[in-house]
Amino acid sequence: MAILKIKKYPDKILKTKAEKIPRIDSKLIKLSEDMLETMYFFNGVGLAANQIGELKRIVVADIRPNGKKKPLILFNPEISASANSCYMEEGCLSVPGISAKVKRAKKITVSGMMPDGKEVKIEVDGLLSRVLQHEIDHLDGILYIERVNAIKRWKLKKEYSKVNNL
Ligand SMILES: [Zn+2]
Repeated sequence: MAILKIKKYPDKILKTKAEKIPRIDSKLIKLSEDMLETMYFFNGVGLAANQIGELKRIVVADIRPNGKKKPLILFNPEISASANSCYMEEGCLSVPGISAKVKRAKKITVSGMMPDGKEVKIEVDGLLSRVLQHEIDHLDGILYIERVNAIKRWKLKKEYSKVNNL
């Protein structure tokens, strides 16, 4: 396994839509495992392939309930239903040093493929729901800072430049 380099805002790849995976092969499984390793290394709870420079629809997540590792790898993840909404503080390994409250659905239904090729459909809420919505947004080239109002976004971008000496 390998620790991959994380692309940082304003890298263009973070604004680009990732492509659907027609077939899972060993190379993609290796990539997803490296993504998981990279996410753990940087203490993240989720990671999308755009963030390590690959335009492929892969997300990994682990909210580590009870401190135990419980990794989730999904290929071609898709949200089929969502309910309610709430605000939660979000940060991003690609936008380091800042965070903001973002409004998203509370509960979602996500479908996708597991590394063994099995199709799954899961209903999630709480932090995992939040993480998966954030990561699936990445696959569509959307960062969480695009999900706040214009004034807040302007402030966040200013703070980001300051914190990261840009
Ligand atoms: Zn992110």
